[in-house]
Amino acid sequence: MVLEKLSESLTSVVKKITLAGIVDERLIKEVVHDIQRALLSTDVNVKLVMDISKKIETRAIKEKSTPGLGKKEHVVKIVYEELVDILGNKQSHQSFAKGRLMLVGLQGSGKTTTGVKLARYYQKRGAKPCIIVTDTYRPAAFDQASQLAEPYDIKVFGDPKNNDPIDIMIKSLEQTKKFNMVILDSAGRHKNEEKLFKELKNLESGFKPDEQFLVIDGSIGQQAGVQAKAFHEAIGITGVILTKIEGSGKGGGALSAVAETDAPINFIGVGENVDDLEVFNPDRFISRLMGMGDLQTLLEKAKESIEEDKVKGILKGEFTLLDLRDQLDSISKMGPLKNVLKMIPGMSMNVPKETSQITEIKMKRFTYIMDSMTLDEQTKPKLINSQRIARISKGSGTTKEDVKELIKYYNLMKKAIKGFKSRGMAKGPLAKMLREFR
Ligand code: GDP
Ligand code: MG
Repeated sequence: MVLEKLSESLTSVVKKITLAGIVDERLIKEVVHDIQRALLSTDVNVKLVMDISKKIETRAIKEKSTPGLGKKEHVVKIVYEELVDILGNKQSHQSFAKGRLMLVGLQGSGKTTTGVKLARYYQKRGAKPCIIVTDTYRPAAFDQASQLAEPYDIKVFGDPKNNDPIDIMIKSLEQTKKFNMVILDSAGRHKNEEKLFKELKNLESGFKPDEQFLVIDGSIGQQAGVQAKAFHEAIGITGVILTKIEGSGKGGGALSAVAETDAPINFIGVGENVDDLEVFNPDRFISRLMGMGDLQTLLEKAKESIEEDKVKGILKGEFTLLDLRDQLDSISKMGPLKNVLKMIPGMSMNVPKETSQITEIKMKRFTYIMDSMTLDEQTKPKLINSQRIARISKGSGTTKEDVKELIKYYNLMKKAIKGFKSRGMAKGPLAKMLREFR
C-alpha cells in the first residue's frame, strides 16, 4: 500500500467516526487532532494542516448532513473532501497520449526508470513508444534504460560515446519514424542550476515535446514543491511525476506541496519495477488512503440514483467485458478479491468458487488480454471464436488457454449476476456488490 502509515491513521479516523456513539464537538475535535497528527507525520506543511483542520472542524459542527447520509457519514465525507482538496483538483493525465514526452528533473530523481515505466504504461494501452536517452554525464544511463526496457520489447536509442545531447537527440529522432510515441530522457546533473535549465531549454527547442514532465523524488517531502516551482518557472512543465512515493514517510508532504503549485501531478512512482507507475487521481487516492470499502459505500449512498442506472444497465444483461474490466481495475486496487467479496453480505455463498480464486497475477493477465481485444469483442464477447482467441492471445502475450479462462470467468460472473437478478435481490446485495466492484 502506498503511504502505509498515513493510510493506517486515516483508516482509523474513519473507523473512529463510524463506531462512535454520537457525533458531538468532542469527537470532532478528537478526530481533527488525529488528522493533524497523521498529516504532520508525513511532512505536510504546518499551515496547510492548520487550514484543513479548521475547515473540517467548522464544517463538521455547522453543516447539515447531506440528504441520504447520516451525521457520521457526513463527517467522513467532509474529511474526505477536504483531504482531496489539498491534493488539488487539477485534471489528471488522460490514459492515452500520443507524441513526444520529455522528462526533466534532478539526478537520481527517477527519470530513466520513469521513462521506461511510461513507455510500458502507454504500450499496454496500445501505443508504440520508444525512448531516447541523452544523459551524457552518466553514460551508463543508456544501458540502464535498455536493460529495463528489454523484456517489453521497447526500443531505446542513444549513444553513450557521444557527449552532445542535442546531437544524440537529432540522430536518434531520425530512427523513430515507426513509433508514435517518443520519450526523451534528459540529464539532471549540473553544478549550476541555470546551466541545467539552459541545457534543458536547448534540448526542448529541438525536440518540441507535447508534454514536459518533471520527475521529482517524493521522499524529499515538502521540498518537492520548491523544486516544482523552480522548474516550472524556468522551463515550463506540463506535469509532475512524483517517484519513490511508496515507502517514503514524507509522501504526503511531497504530494500536497506540489499540488499547491501550478503543475498537476500526473503520475506517481510506487516502486522500482517497470510496472510500478500509477495515474494520480486525488479523489481515488484519498479514498484508498481512507480505506476504500467503507468510504466507497458511503459515497455511493449519496449518488445512489446515478448508480441505479448503471445497475439497471447491467441487469438488462448488458454486463460486458468492459464492465468486467472496470471491476478488475477497482478490485486490484482494493486487495485480493476474496477479501472484497467478504465485505458483501451473502456474497460468499452466491459467487461461484472459481471467481473468488482469481489471483492478482491472473487479474493483471486478464487486463492485458482485454486490452488486446477490439471494442466489438469487449462489448459482444460472443463474437470471440477460436480464430479471434488466437489473435488476442498473441497480441497480449498470453496463451490461448489464458484467453479461454478469461471468457470462462466472464461467463461465470455474468451468470452470478443473472442469478441474483432472478432471485430478486437487485435492490440489496447485488446493487451493493456492483457498487463495491466499481
Ligand atoms: P535519474 O538519475 O533521474 O535517471 O534516476 P534513475 O531512474 O536512475 O533512478 C534513481 C534510483 O531511484 C534508481 O535506483 C531507481 O530504481 C529508483 N527509483 C526510481 N523510481 C522509483 C520509485 O518509484 N520507487 C522506488 N522505490 N525507487 C525508484
Ligand atoms: Mg538517468
